[in-house]
Amino acid sequence: MLFNPAAERMPLPQLRALQNDRLRAQVAYVHARVPFYQQRLAAAGLTPAGFRGLEDLPKLGFTKKTDFRDHYPFGLFAVPEAEVARLHCSSGTTGKATVVGYTAADLAVFAELVARSLAAAGCRPGMKLQNAYGYGLFTGGLGIHYGAEKLGLTVIPVSGGSTDRQLQLLQDFRPEILCATPSYAQVLAEEIERRGLDLGAINLQYAVLGAEPWTEAIRQQVQAGLRVAATNIYGLSEIMGPGVSQEDVDERGTGSYVWEDHFYPEIVDRLTGEPLPHGAPGVLVLSTLTKQALPILRYWTGDITHLSYEHSGKRTHVKMGPIRGRADDMLIIRGVNFFPTQIEDLLQHAEHLSPCYQVVATRRGRLDEVAVHVEVAAALWQALGLGAPGAAPGPPPDALVRVQGALAKKIKDNIGLSMAVHLVGPGQLPRSEGGKLNRVQDLRHL
Ligand code: ADP
Repeated sequence: MLFNPAAERMPLPQLRALQNDRLRAQVAYVHARVPFYQQRLAAAGLTPAGFRGLEDLPKLGFTKKTDFRDHYPFGLFAVPEAEVARLHCSSGTTGKATVVGYTAADLAVFAELVARSLAAAGCRPGMKLQNAYGYGLFTGGLGIHYGAEKLGLTVIPVSGGSTDRQLQLLQDFRPEILCATPSYAQVLAEEIERRGLDLGAINLQYAVLGAEPWTEAIRQQVQAGLRVAATNIYGLSEIMGPGVSQEDVDERGTGSYVWEDHFYPEIVDRLTGEPLPHGAPGVLVLSTLTKQALPILRYWTGDITHLSYEHSGKRTHVKMGPIRGRADDMLIIRGVNFFPTQIEDLLQHAEHLSPCYQVVATRRGRLDEVAVHVEVAAALWQALGLGAPGAAPGPPPDALVRVQGALAKKIKDNIGLSMAVHLVGPGQLPRSEGGKLNRVQDLRHL
C-alpha cells in the first residue's frame, strides 16, 4: 500500500524540481539562522542568492557527528528553544550521544514518513503493531509509535527487552506486526522455538527491522522463526530517526526507498569525500530538505551502502542497498579492508551454522588477528549428541572439524584473510537485550 501516492510516485522531473526548490529554501533558512552553516556557506564561496540547488551541494563541506558534539547541546538548532516540541538523542553507539530537536511541523513529517514506511512494509490500518524499539531518548520507540498511529494502527508500546512479556503479548494481543532491531527479532524467534511455543497462537505477519546492519541470513532466520515477511527500515537521529528509508514488502532484497521529497542522498568516497558514480558503494551523505528545528546539510552518516536509481519498483524514489556497516566498523586487517557483515553473508550459505556470530580482532606483536566465533546449528549440535549447550569438553567430533575447516576456507577465499574459526554451541554468543547488538570486538588497541 502507498500511504501518500502523489509523493511516492511523483514523476522524476517533478521530484528533482521539488528537491531543488526545497534545498534552495533550506540553504537560505540555515544561512539566516545557524551561524555554523553561515560560516560553512561562506567558506565554500556560496550565498543563498547564488545557490543554484542540487548541483551546488557538493561544493559544501560535510557535517559530521563531531560538529554536533562541538555544538552540544543546541548550537546547531535553527529555532528558539521554545519552538522545539521534542528532544531526542542518538544511541551513542560510536561515542557521546548527539542531541536532536523537532518542531511540531518536523514531528508531523516524521510521523508521515514512518506511516509511509510501515505501509510499504505491508502494514494496513486496523492492524496491531507491537513496538519493541526502545522508548525514551532513542528515536526508534516514539518515532515508530506516532507513525503507526498516523497510519491507523493500534500500537502496543512495549519497548525493547522483557522477552517473557513480549512473548506473552504476542500470544494474548495477537499483533500482526513486530517492530524491533533485527538482533532482538532473532532473540524472539529463538525463544519461541526454545520454549516450543505454537506459532499458530502468534498472529504475526510482518516484521519491520532496523537500527543496526543485518543481512539476508538474518532475514531468513527471522522470517522462518516468526513466520513473517521482514523488511528493512533505516534512519538516524541526526537526520530524523527511523523512516528515512524503507524496503517494500513485495520488493524485498532490492533496496529501501529513500523518501527523497524530504531527504537528498549522495554517495561519496570513504577516503576522499568525492561524489561516486551511481551504483558505487561508499559513504551515505544525507541532506534534509524540509527540517525546521535542525536542518542538516551533507551529513556524513558513516554508513556504507550504494544507491540504485534504475529500478522498476512501485515508487519513483531512489533505493539504497543494505548498510554494509559503518565506516568506523570497517576493520583493516593486515592491509585488507573488511566489514564484519561479510562474515554474515558467508554464513547464509554455510551448512550447519547459525547466523549468530561474533568477530574479535586482537593484536599479537605487530600482527593483527581476527577470530570468528559462530554458533553451530542446533540440529547438528543435537545430532552429534553434544547435549546441553556448553557441555562439550574434549576434542570436537570430526563433523565439527569439517564445518570449521569449510568456513575458514570460505573466509579465506572470499575475503582474502585467514581467520581463526571457533565453533560454539547454540545460545553461547551474546544476544540483543532489546536494542542494538554489537557483533564486533576490536581489542587491538587495549
Ligand atoms: P547511533 O549513531 O548512536 O547508533 P542512532 O540511534 O541515531 O544513533 O542510529 C543511527 C545509526 O544506526 C545509523 O547511522 C546506522 O549506522 C544504524 N542503522 C539504523 N538503521 C539501520 C538499518 N536498517 N540497517 C543498518 N544500520 C542501521
